[in-house]
Amino acid sequence: MSYTNFKIETDADGIALVTWDMPEKSMNVFTQEVMDELDAIIDQTTADAAVKGVVFTSGKSSFSGGADLSMIKSMFTLQAEEKKNDPANAAQKLFNLVGRMTGLFRKLETCGKPWVSAINGTCMGGAFELSLACHGRVASNSKSVKIALPEVKVGIFPGAGGTQRVPRLTNTQDALQMMTTGSSLTAARAKAMGLVHEVVEPEKLIEAAKAMIKNGLKAVQPWDEKGFKLPGGGVWTPASAQLWPAASAILRRETYGNYPGAIAILKCVYEGLQVPFDTGLKIEQRYFTEILQTTEAFSMIRSLFVSMQELGKGARRPAGVPKSEFKKVGVVGAGFMGASIAYVTAAAGIPVTLIDRDMEAAEKGKAHSEGLVKDSVGKGRLTKDEGEALLARITPSADYGDLKDAGLIVEAVFEDRQVKKDVIEKVEAVIAPDAIFASNTSTLPITGLAKNSKRPEQFIGVHFFSPVEKMMLTEVIVGKETGDKALATALDYVAAIKKTPIVVNDTRGFYVNRCVFRYIHEAYDMLIEGVPPAMIENAAKMAGMPVGPLSLNDEVAIDLSQKILKATVADLGEKAVDTKHMALVNRMVDELDRRGRKNGKGFYEYPAKPAKKYLWPGLKELYPQKAADKVDVEVLKQRFLATIALEAARTIEEGIVTDPREADVGSILGFGFAPYTGGTLSYIDGMGTKAFVALCEKLAKGYGDHFKPTPLLKEMAEKGETFYGRFDPYGAAQRAA
Ligand code: NAD
Repeated sequence: MSYTNFKIETDADGIALVTWDMPEKSMNVFTQEVMDELDAIIDQTTADAAVKGVVFTSGKSSFSGGADLSMIKSMFTLQAEEKKNDPANAAQKLFNLVGRMTGLFRKLETCGKPWVSAINGTCMGGAFELSLACHGRVASNSKSVKIALPEVKVGIFPGAGGTQRVPRLTNTQDALQMMTTGSSLTAARAKAMGLVHEVVEPEKLIEAAKAMIKNGLKAVQPWDEKGFKLPGGGVWTPASAQLWPAASAILRRETYGNYPGAIAILKCVYEGLQVPFDTGLKIEQRYFTEILQTTEAFSMIRSLFVSMQELGKGARRPAGVPKSEFKKVGVVGAGFMGASIAYVTAAAGIPVTLIDRDMEAAEKGKAHSEGLVKDSVGKGRLTKDEGEALLARITPSADYGDLKDAGLIVEAVFEDRQVKKDVIEKVEAVIAPDAIFASNTSTLPITGLAKNSKRPEQFIGVHFFSPVEKMMLTEVIVGKETGDKALATALDYVAAIKKTPIVVNDTRGFYVNRCVFRYIHEAYDMLIEGVPPAMIENAAKMAGMPVGPLSLNDEVAIDLSQKILKATVADLGEKAVDTKHMALVNRMVDELDRRGRKNGKGFYEYPAKPAKKYLWPGLKELYPQKAADKVDVEVLKQRFLATIALEAARTIEEGIVTDPREADVGSILGFGFAPYTGGTLSYIDGMGTKAFVALCEKLAKGYGDHFKPTPLLKEMAEKGETFYGRFDPYGAAQRAA
């Protein structure tokens, strides 16, 4: 029999080598067709008396990325329709559907012939669950082998037997940690945990897998043997009595109960370990059915997987512009940002000329990369040769003439209009007529800066976030005159350095900083009202924000907030800012010299390490304090999320952001907006525009006009519209095509 996605070769010893190699895909994923074929392969190899056992591997450099999440996304649409058409049976149908993979893997492990999974590269999610159902697992010791059950990161959990097999192979604590964090294991770590049997050189992989079968590997899983004992000792042991309360407490501390998928993992393991294996699988299937119906799972899969991939692949790239090849990129300004931009560019294999005012400053910028490379080589992330090659790609210089053959220039000099004007003129005097100029300005509108350019259609903003090496997002800012070639080049560049772009039309603060300052300003309001500072920080984290607003403001610097408020007054007048906010930052900066982490004094105190930072006690003296029990934490949480989401809605209404995917992905990657919501607009869509408008009206009464819902929101609430419905990104793309 022949298959589309698999090849089978049976050797003289009767061992069938099944190689998974999907045509026209860079990575193997589970689709309906793959499951049908695997089902048939189990039948075929079981029925064929000549086959003694099966080795299962991949024909690609990776093993598999797991389930095709786009398939899961389409299941949501089906489920929504089912709920309308046949509400009584919708959940049962979903239950049956999600049980398909579970049943298939159970069929594999009880087929009566030994199966060995030969893991040659990244093995994620459903693919590792398939491997767990095999009787033997051999992994290559190559650096590219990463083993993980990462489902929790997109709001779901391992639902094809993972929650039952992992804790039957390793101790409960390690099992819980692996699944609730979704973190990756090396082959060696997986072996130490008992999740793989052997780790071998890559070229010995298949041989070792076949040897397991030849050496008499039993076709029975440990949990199907009589007298099976759990490696962690089961739930009713003294060790478990200590583990379980701590496990729930740790999960609570890390997630504040915001992630139903993570909680379900604990439930599946706790309940599943007390019953026979097949009952455990059924428990997992029930919880999986429940989790798939949550708004969190729907929104997280959409934003954190589907949209992120689509934007990364250039969903917003203008069609018809040939793909850019970057033979050289120029970075002007080798300071804090420029040095890091040069590093990420060189790390992507692109030669960089790094310019500053003098050679000493340019070399100092390159020294940043030298430090990073040294660190990576020390940690074994880069070989010495790779490190040297990376550094050889960065050429420091003080001569603008060295930019003449660069196709793209990224400018990161002082945030000063005059300095930037001089640099634009000097750069344009030497670069090729078709080269693109990109400014990394964080506050100056691109359209205004482009007035200094002789070719404003080739002028664009590429706004990086600090620390550049870690932050996955880049905002691409389109000025009034920016043309398609500049946009396509900027998006190609962002893709080349492996970051996710969002395209934003020109405005003060662009998208991310507009939202971030709403977050910080809400904290100012709370401070001024007398909410205890610790409650402000904790409520924000309980709402799902990774960093409290006061801590965040210390990081970006309080004097930067002051500068931005002052610039807003200068450009738009006194009324454009809240005078109480102005008074607060003036007092912090001018009177108290508390500028944030950079001078060791801000909303927090920064004692010498290893002591941890703590909230500055004097903060409580600035405003009369409310008693903590008079403050409603739920309302504080709502205020943070609502003020940011409202700002995102305004950017859509003003035409600054045009695609809801970008608002959502930008908010999560840019400032960690409560990921379980799926991002700013998914947060609104998730509760419904009607409920959101009602929430905003309630908050406006108690906490200020900035909560008043906008006309667009009110209209959408009346019509029962969602952002993804009204600004349908797929509809727009189809219309444009
Ligand atoms: P920085 O002061 O660390 O670096 C600026 C560099 O530009 C310095 O090395 C300086 O010597 C150099 N420079 C000044 N005039 C020059 C000239 N005429 N020719 C060549 N080099 C010149 O500043 P930074 O924090 O790296 O910020 C740079 C830009 O990036 C600013 O526009 C800023 O708004 C933007 N930005 C900063 C951040 C951040 O977190 N710091 C984030 C995003 C964007």
